[in-house]
Amino acid sequence: MKTVGTAEVIPEKKTKGYLHAGTDTDGSPFQLPVLVAAGKEEGPTIWVQGCIHGDEYGGAASIIRFFQELDLSKLRGTFVGVPVTNLPSFKARYRTSPLDGANLNRIFPGDPKGTYSQRLAHTLISTISETADYVIDLHSGGNGAYVPFYVICDYNDTEAGKKSLWLAERMGADVIWRSEAETDITGTGTAQLVKNGIPAVTVECGGGNVTEDHERLFKESIENAMKALEMLPGLAPIQNEYTVINGADFFFTGQGGLFVPACNVGDVLNKGDLLGSVMNLYGDTTEELHCPSDDAYIAAIGHRYWPVHPGQLIAEAIPVIERFSKEKGS
Ligand SMILES: [Zn+2]
Repeated sequence: MKTVGTAEVIPEKKTKGYLHAGTDTDGSPFQLPVLVAAGKEEGPTIWVQGCIHGDEYGGAASIIRFFQELDLSKLRGTFVGVPVTNLPSFKARYRTSPLDGANLNRIFPGDPKGTYSQRLAHTLISTISETADYVIDLHSGGNGAYVPFYVICDYNDTEAGKKSLWLAERMGADVIWRSEAETDITGTGTAQLVKNGIPAVTVECGGGNVTEDHERLFKESIENAMKALEMLPGLAPIQNEYTVINGADFFFTGQGGLFVPACNVGDVLNKGDLLGSVMNLYGDTTEELHCPSDDAYIAAIGHRYWPVHPGQLIAEAIPVIERFSKEKGS
């Protein structure tokens, strides 16, 4: 019998189990809940995961809801949901790991002899590579920031890179961060998966809380991907126009205080425009953050009056490199 962790894959059944992912400081096991839904007909296996960053709960909740609502009679192939991939970080409600300080999504492919997070990255990549044909990785702005709804794909000239872009165009978002040759960020799980020949797309949506809209957008993005892959009936949507972004500028505060945003997510700013500022507890502006380039898409911004410490990620401005339209049905 085929299994994912301890969950059995049984046609026309939803099953639950866990993946073993190392142990906590007290020796107790980290068991990552796994949700498996298998259709009657054979088909691809799609792996959908959340909470690689522990404070990004919207993806986790949406995976659980999607699984509960999924109609097995319409499913072809297998859905595998892992709501929380990074349990220590989730328990701490923090982006990085309390065990070793690592940002899990910067250290793939990991190391089976490394720190906890390096071992976890290795376990995840090995398990996913044995199991999945396609991967969707759900993210948000975390506790302190929020993001618009957009997708990220690690595009390159391989079959997996091209298929990732093809899938990204069909998931309901009209903004695609097309990350090429790891120029922006290194060590992401999706980039490693594409290297391993598995198409993978990251979905970004919301942050700080999980609204009904965030849940709907996350679930629709999964459903649209599964429609595109003919795992569910219906047509995946094609947008009238796509905005392609690449070449990230990440902004970290230099001063502690309260963050005062000067723009919204989804805005397009030009060089010199104010992104936001930091106010100290006397009401003085101690720092201003300005956009360094023209035609830059605001892909994340801190919440209004969010308390920040020096070195905190507070905004992302990503240059638009292309806008294009697609023929319907292509
Ligand atoms: Zn994230």
